[in-house]
Parts: sequence; structure tokens; C-alpha cells
Amino acid sequence: MASQQVKDVAADQLKCFKDLNLGAKCQQNAPKYTTVTGKGIADKGNSLSVGPRGPLLLQDVQFLEELAQFDRERIPERVVHAKGAGAFGYLEVTSDALSKFTKAKLFSTVGKRTPLAIRFSTVGGEAGSADTVRDPRGFAVKFYTEDGNWDLVGNNTPIFFIRDPILFPSFIHTQKRNPQTHLKDANMTWDFFSLRPETTHQVCFLYSDRGIPASYREMNGYGSHTFKLVNEAGEAVYTKFHLKTKQGIRCHDVATAGRLAGDDPDHTTRDLFNAIANKNYPKWAMYVQIMTFEQAEKFKYNPFDLTKVWSHKDFPLIEVGEVVLDRNAENYFAEIEQLAFSPANMIAGIEPSPDKMLQGRLFSYSDTHRHRLGANFHQIPVNRPRCPVMHPTLRDGPGCFTDNGGALPNYYPNSFAGLVGDSSCKEACQKVAGDVQRHDSANDDNFEQVTSFWTNVLSPEERDRLVANIAGHLAQVTVPAIVERSVANFEKVHVDFGAKLRLALNLVKVSASAGR
Ligand code: NDP
Repeated sequence: MASQQVKDVAADQLKCFKDLNLGAKCQQNAPKYTTVTGKGIADKGNSLSVGPRGPLLLQDVQFLEELAQFDRERIPERVVHAKGAGAFGYLEVTSDALSKFTKAKLFSTVGKRTPLAIRFSTVGGEAGSADTVRDPRGFAVKFYTEDGNWDLVGNNTPIFFIRDPILFPSFIHTQKRNPQTHLKDANMTWDFFSLRPETTHQVCFLYSDRGIPASYREMNGYGSHTFKLVNEAGEAVYTKFHLKTKQGIRCHDVATAGRLAGDDPDHTTRDLFNAIANKNYPKWAMYVQIMTFEQAEKFKYNPFDLTKVWSHKDFPLIEVGEVVLDRNAENYFAEIEQLAFSPANMIAGIEPSPDKMLQGRLFSYSDTHRHRLGANFHQIPVNRPRCPVMHPTLRDGPGCFTDNGGALPNYYPNSFAGLVGDSSCKEACQKVAGDVQRHDSANDDNFEQVTSFWTNVLSPEERDRLVANIAGHLAQVTVPAIVERSVANFEKVHVDFGAKLRLALNLVKVSASAGR
């Protein structure tokens, strides 16, 4: 496999560091250990004690500092997407196709490069969980544009399990641990999937071959949501962003993934680090789909429904750029763990659509970071915009790393600051009307696109593997009614799907009980 032939720079990180940083010259003038406040440390390896056997002294502030910091090393891990890897690079614009649709300056000129950070992740597992599990992969991009940070916080699938964010906490609970046993629980997972048939499309992607990418480099990324592009004239269209891997799609089969989960649980993290360290820079082509407001009105589905795609035939992919990753982080915690993505980070020319899932995420992501990193998370170097920030009414709070707005007045309006609004950033005007109520979207065409996936996209062999993968997990469900309800949903996708699944489940059940 390609990933096993590369030089394992990750395994040699310490030696590489020494070779790079500590030549003979340095040895003669070696930097000295200090406390966090810069006082020199003469002895780093012995605590201060009364006699050789102790006890220790409270005045050993060097020792106290060591322990106190250690006690605080961990910040809360992300509730979802806890295990991840990331790197840095750039977007280069390859076509001016977007400049007529958006005033976002990063797309204004062919050849323009915008620096970026990407964090890939699994979703359900904890920070130490295995990389090769069947799970969607996070694919979050932060573009450091001249007009502020734009975050495209996507996945390796263009769709999602649900279309109303009020179900998100429940859905995620079913992917995590049972509140009593603290175990993953197939009954929880399939109870939810089967009670909410809008999950069927994403479930079929997840249990297909693409459910276990061989590496983060060999998978696509999708902005998934519908966004609005706004040009200089204030005209708006809807759009979806796609990042297609230039390494080719490659996936692990179930047996390989299972073996790697035990032998090399950090497999894809290692692969990404080594590829970049070996200058085999991963690349993706960036595409958009464009839908006018008029087309959105006539579209047969709700164009903002995150459980559906826009067909490529009706809304062809337009290539706009290339994303390249060419730098590993110097320090994982500072640059990757502290990376804070939020779909709310948009720039002039890119705006939210009415997509309910997007609307929910606009709040939730920044809110998570306030909890995880503190109210000033946007001041952490890796999250800081590369353009001036002038927001003097946001002040104080724990971990303030900037001049905190200096002497500027901290209230608005005022007669002293001399700051004015930026009319070029005015949002597009959009008329919205409707009845305020809890609109039930549970049965909005849950199966038609899944049928197209089964019939037109998958080969017969891929269908068989999809069925086998679903059956393997459904066989762990101990409640027959949940199994029956699940199979009935797949029957609605295609009668063959249901029939094959029934057959496979019988086989799995027979062989499982025979083995007991
Ligand atoms: P197309 O034939 O133009 O597109 C089919 C898409 O399916 C391609 O993007 C292909 O990706 C992708 N694909 C192939 N295998 C898998 C898999 N195992 N899991 C997820 N995606 C896969 O058809 P349409 O645009 O008309 O869509 C038909 C159906 O294809 C949809 O109902 C949907 O289920 C699925 N699909 C559509 C996408 C879209 O944005 N329109 C994107 C992904 C899936 P690639 O070209 O990279 O091989």
C-alpha cells in the first residue's frame, strides 16, 4: 500500500527535531531551562526535600508549577469529532467562474492563493479512539482570507442523517455510549435510524464502501449545506461546495479496518503526517454547484434539506480551485486541538441559506468553543483572522491574548471611536414569510434519492457489500421490532434491497447462534 512505502517521519519525529534544531554549534551555547516566568532552573530532575528521603517542601515552586500545569493539561474534548488530525496549506483559484456570483475576494482572481487550515476527524469516538471505524469523517476548512476567516465545516459526505437540528443531540447520543452500560449500543443506533427514515440516505453512504476511508487524503470533502453567494450588485444565488480528492478515493475493507483498529489505531493520523513530511502534498479540486432562487422555488425537493443532494445532471459541478496541504503543525495542541471551526464564520459574499441544520450549527459550534476554549477562543493564534479586528464592544473574559480593544470606547454608539460601518459587507436582502409553527418534516421524500443511489450509483458487488455491512450491525440488535422496522425502510428504497437484507440477516443470525 502506498501509505506503507513512505518514510515514517512520524516515528522519527524526535530524531528529526534534534537533527534540525541541535547542531554542534547549538550544543556549545545550549538554551537553558527556565520557569514559566523565565527564572533559570539549575536542576530539573530533583524535587526539593528535607534530607534524601523527604518530605517535600511547599516552597519548591518549581515542583508545584510542574504539577499544577500537568493537572490542567486537558481541555474538554469536542462532544463530536473528538479524534482528529490536521494540517495547513492553501486554496489556489483555478477559474474565475465564481467571481460573477460572489464578492468574496478569495475567489476574485485566477491564481490567487489563500492560506488555510484543515482538520479531519471521526465523529462518534473519543479523542483516543481508532481512526479506521465506520463513521462519517469531518472535513473542516478554515480559510484565512483578507476579509476575515471563512470556515467551511463539512464532512466526507454531501448529506447528513437528519434535517432538523432539534434532533441532533438525540441522534449523537445514539452513536455514543449507553447511559448505563457505557457501551456502544446497536439497539440505540437502529432504534433511532428506523424511527427517523430520513436517516436512510446517509446510512446507505455510511455502510457502503466509502464508510471507511483508507486515509484522510483519499476521500472527498463537502460543505454539505446550501449557502448563499452574493455579488457586488447584491444579487444572490444558492450554492454547494465540493472538494474532490486528487489522490483518488480509496477505502478499507471491513477486515483491514478491524485489524488496523487494533494494530495501528492512529493509522490515518500517521498517514497524513507522513505524506506531508515526505512532500507528497494532498490535493483536492474545489467545485461548486449553483442554483438560482427561481430554480430553488421550482426544485422538486426542499433545496435546503441536508438529507438530499442536488443532482450533478441538473446542477453540474463547476471547478473553481485547488486545495493543497503542505505543512504539518509544529505543535498539535496549539495548532490542531485549539483550532475552532464554526459555520458562523462567513465573509462578505458568502451567507447562510435557510437550511435548518446550518441555522442550528451557526449557534452550536461557536458555543462549543466558548465552553471548550473560553470566551476568547477567536484570539488564539491559530483562530485569529489575518486582517485587523475592530470589535471594541467585545471585551475581557478569561484568556485575553490581545490588547483587548486598547483604549477604544467599549460601547456603541459613541462619539469618540471614529469607527464606521463597512457598507461593502451589507447582507443581501431576502424576503421571508411563513407560519410560525413546529413544521413536521419527518416524511419529506425520504427514499427517492436513496433508490437512485442503490439503482444508478452502486455496482452489484457494492450493493452486496452494503447489505452485508448493514446486516453485520443489525444482527447485534436484540429487539426484533427494531430489526423489522429497519428492514422495512430499506425495502422502501428497493424491494431487492429488503430481500437481500432479510436473507443476509438470517444467515448472520444462523452463523452467530451456531458459534455460541
Ligand atoms: P451522479 O452519477 O452524477 O453522481 C453520483 C455520485 O455518487 C458521485 O459524486 C460519486 O462520487 C458518488 N458515489 C459513488 N459511490 C458512492 C458511495 N459509496 N457513497 C457516496 N457517494 C458515492 O448522480 P446524481 O448527482 O444524479 O446523484 C445520484 C445519487 O448519487 C444521489 O441520489 C446520491 O445518492 C448519490 N450522490 C450524489 C452526489 C451529488 O452531489 N449529486 C454526491 C454523492 C453521492 P465520485 O464522483 O467522487 O466517485
